[in-house]
Amino acid sequence: MKKLNTWIPDKEDSDFSIYNIPFGIYSDANVKHRVCSAIGEYIIDLFELESRDVFDINRSVFERESLNDFISLGKPTTNKVRAKLQEILCDDSSFLKSDTSFFGKVFKKQSAVKMLMPVKVGDYTDFYSSIDHATNIGTMIRDPKNALMPNWKHLPVGYHGRASSICVSGHSFYRPKGQQKPADAEVPVYGPSKLLDIELETAFVIGKQTQMGDTVSTDKADDHIFGMVLFNDWSARDIQTWEYVPLGPFLAKNFASTVSPWIVTLEALEPFRVKGYVQDPPLLPYLQYKGDRNLDIHLDVYIKPQNGEETHIIGSNYKYMYYTMEQQLAHHTVNGCNINVGDMMASGTISGPQPGEFGSMMELTWRGTKPIKLKDGSERKFINDNDTVTIKGYCKKDGMRVGFGECTGTLLPAK
Ligand code: MN
Repeated sequence: MKKLNTWIPDKEDSDFSIYNIPFGIYSDANVKHRVCSAIGEYIIDLFELESRDVFDINRSVFERESLNDFISLGKPTTNKVRAKLQEILCDDSSFLKSDTSFFGKVFKKQSAVKMLMPVKVGDYTDFYSSIDHATNIGTMIRDPKNALMPNWKHLPVGYHGRASSICVSGHSFYRPKGQQKPADAEVPVYGPSKLLDIELETAFVIGKQTQMGDTVSTDKADDHIFGMVLFNDWSARDIQTWEYVPLGPFLAKNFASTVSPWIVTLEALEPFRVKGYVQDPPLLPYLQYKGDRNLDIHLDVYIKPQNGEETHIIGSNYKYMYYTMEQQLAHHTVNGCNINVGDMMASGTISGPQPGEFGSMMELTWRGTKPIKLKDGSERKFINDNDTVTIKGYCKKDGMRVGFGECTGTLLPAK
């Protein structure tokens, strides 16, 4: 990768380096919703910038409430916009640098704007593709000797989730209520979930649609993946344990999910590809793939109690995924299921092999048997009312850093 030097003041640990150039939607006192990118501590208003015809596309696409129409222009166009931004931001003689009043219109401090939901999500799917997570859960709730179900190493297990309650970072939501069956009770009870958990995940956003009957091969999958976000799949374990048989997650999952506001493009992530898991037994041909298709994305999770200090609780990595995004998409479409721009497909909880790398409270505290200590001295088995949970993530290599920003949600007491 060529070294890029931008004239924008850039901190070394910024998520939004010149190598990133993600896309999002912002608003402020004067702007209802516009497409933007980011560099350093600024957002870049692309609608304003295109008043100078730098990308040679109809600028109305930058004044929408989601990125769907921009993404639908296709990768040749969206990649051209990203490359052009990198070019302008590295050009010392750029009009953007010399025209300070125009600079002020296009560049706004990230701290001064509000980031909105980046895409309109038509359909949302969640996978279950981390071998350490699946093994931990299987060990806890079934049989340590047969922790993985017989299908697990043959296909990326998944379920269809709910798009209506996916919210952008910075939101709060109510502790869900529902049916639970305590182990010592004869009959189920109804009330607020007592075992409210997080799931450390990422998600990819579909960038190119297919028609019913079409399949997407692992080779072609990247053409259909626009980029990635951080994802917290909030989960009510007590509701889940009682309801999930035999069809899987339902009300334990659909009350809220949180996503980070910036979509980091697949092209920005390409330098951070690493070798995937050795998949044994071998998979059916439609799930096989060539090359290094896993990704080295460092992931951190923090809990902040109300009025309290933030505590780092998980340090993990996307590279622990057993199945790649390309395999997940190939499997998702192998029956002819069509996909649309803006569809979101989440990784499933990402756990690494070490206890500090486990991606849920259920695993971290081993079903509540080993509580974790926060900096304020309090303990957590699961998530408490008014706790704020933040996921952060970044890739780093050879002086390049590409980050995702934050994925933050706050749990309010049950309504
Ligand atoms: Mn999940």
